[in-house]
Amino acid sequence: MDKQIPVDQLTLAAAKQEIDPLKRQLTQWGKEYYEQDNPTVEDYVYDRAYERLVELEQKFPELKTSDSPTQHVGGGPTSQLTKVTHDIPMLSMGDVFSIDELMDFNARQQDNDDVEVAPEYNLELKIDGLSLSLVYENGKLVQGSTRGNGVIGEDVTANVKTIKSVPRELPEPLSIEFRGECYMPKSSFVKLNQEREAAGQSIFANPRNAAAGSLRQLDPAVTAKRDLDTFMYYIPEYQKLGLKTQSEALDKMRELGFNVNPNNRVVHSRQEITDYIEEYTAKRDQLSYGIDGIVEKVNDLDTETALGNTVKVPRWEIAYKFPPEEQVTIVRDIEWTVGRTGNVTPTAVMDPVQLAGTTVSRASLHNPDYLQEKGIRLGDTVYLHKAGDIIPEISRVDLKKRPAESKPYEIPTTCPVCGSELVHLDDEVALRCVNPMCPAQIKEGLAHFASRNAMNIDGLGPKIIQQLWDKELIHDVADLYHLTRDQLLTLDKFGDKSATNLLTSIDNSRNNSVERLLFGLGIRHVGAKAARLIMEEFHSLDRLMQASAEEVSAVDGIGPTIGDSVETYFSNKQVVKLIDELRDAGVNFDYLGATTPANPESEWNGRRVVLTGKLENMTRGEAKTWLEDHGAKVTGSVSKKTDIVIAGTAAGSKLTKAQDLGITVWDEARFAQAMKEEQ
Ligand SMILES: [Zn+2]
Repeated sequence: MDKQIPVDQLTLAAAKQEIDPLKRQLTQWGKEYYEQDNPTVEDYVYDRAYERLVELEQKFPELKTSDSPTQHVGGGPTSQLTKVTHDIPMLSMGDVFSIDELMDFNARQQDNDDVEVAPEYNLELKIDGLSLSLVYENGKLVQGSTRGNGVIGEDVTANVKTIKSVPRELPEPLSIEFRGECYMPKSSFVKLNQEREAAGQSIFANPRNAAAGSLRQLDPAVTAKRDLDTFMYYIPEYQKLGLKTQSEALDKMRELGFNVNPNNRVVHSRQEITDYIEEYTAKRDQLSYGIDGIVEKVNDLDTETALGNTVKVPRWEIAYKFPPEEQVTIVRDIEWTVGRTGNVTPTAVMDPVQLAGTTVSRASLHNPDYLQEKGIRLGDTVYLHKAGDIIPEISRVDLKKRPAESKPYEIPTTCPVCGSELVHLDDEVALRCVNPMCPAQIKEGLAHFASRNAMNIDGLGPKIIQQLWDKELIHDVADLYHLTRDQLLTLDKFGDKSATNLLTSIDNSRNNSVERLLFGLGIRHVGAKAARLIMEEFHSLDRLMQASAEEVSAVDGIGPTIGDSVETYFSNKQVVKLIDELRDAGVNFDYLGATTPANPESEWNGRRVVLTGKLENMTRGEAKTWLEDHGAKVTGSVSKKTDIVIAGTAAGSKLTKAQDLGITVWDEARFAQAMKEEQ
């Protein structure tokens, strides 16, 4: 599709040859996008192909068929959710890719003979989520549904009720429908994918698919665990509320308690439209939610109604889509790293390029299936973008630039660290090293044990663990409790003060309430929250060790997977020996009450954080947004009140000041680890 012949130079025969495969391709992509929540191409690729089809059909109307993707809103509801009929169809929007095209659209709109259109527009951000309809009767929420194919959607009422920003009852007894977007914030998307990757599950391509996959669940309990949010933007029967303009409609929804995006603006000229687009193109990376463009609506609602819709899209609104931020680079290596649970993950190492505000040289390839689907080989030229505006990701390989001597990449069959054979567990996509003595896993396990939501041993980061390991001072977590000052003083750049601090942290960790220990042991499927629920019930580790899988599963909020995992773990002789060593070292085995907050996310609550230097995998703006979303206060200068300084490369005076004041300093890797631990 790179070098297309312009449509007006095509013969009918040539057009016919092009149009059939194009329709099939678009239908397939549409299915993946709308029904399976799993697109295999970038939106931009889809949009461009779609546009080409529209052009072909305009030039050769005889080739237009009723099954063409241009003749219906993509994708029908296929899930087992109950179907809902939309009395007023939920249409998708037409789109344009440049300001000139947008102005052409406006000119055509104003040219029509039937309706007089005043050039007053309401501009809104185009949220990267899925459309949602909310129906209220006498002020009570009675139905939430997805768009589906525009006429028939899916009933997601029970799921919608788990979303905090959706009012179940309005301050007025209205019987009316509201429409908007359901989305997942960027930070929640990142966290969800990290959890899924760690659990060996497939990952979501972008926040929109994560939102769709989370909302379209048969079990509302699953939806409730996903962090979904909404922005409402449309009242189809505005007349019922006596509204005159779209901007008034947004205000009315705010008044009724809905979440409405605050960034809409009423404009009247090309200049104002251009300013708005430029402003939000620049601010895009700083927002805590993904946007993929700008929506322009005629502000006068009666004019909207008079303009009406084509068979497929409204004539009164249009989406301006952002061009993709893409970069081209070359894959030099594929590194395989072993995680705490033995999950072996590939990462592409590439020539560094600037991408959406950061220097990128690495991108996770998640699992062998993903790597093979993308067909990446060493030496390949690839296109890079940021998924959800945050995570660097390879979109596709440029096959034309593939070197002649290139060979398919061979997935390793043995662990890169311990050499034992790798396996696929259950129906996981992940490849795992199942050797419990694999050094990579033990080191990761030590870092996890020391982490903030686990035993919270300050000063015991990955670099220190590496040194302790290399010097053979620790082999398992129990060894930490036998470290001496003299041993610590042999470590690189480790002075008397660092040694004292670390010994104090280790000593303090003996007195932790036991749910921290249970989480810190790193039992498969046992997260911080599950550990707390289990220990609230069992109170002592000794009692838990005697419990059967059924007894553990019987705890409220704990399922059979965790029950089985806990029983299997404690039936291992090496584990029993480790637990005895921890007991001998004086580690507390009892539940001491709520020493960890009910919601582990509040770990950041009220902490004062300073960001300095250049971060590699995110911009400072992204880091700030994430921290603030998690309740931290991000300040500009370091003082005695600062809790943590996160220092990237080339950090200057703020880092020096933090060191002078003895404030905890984290590098980006430590921060990334903390982001992962939030759950
Ligand atoms: Zn291994």
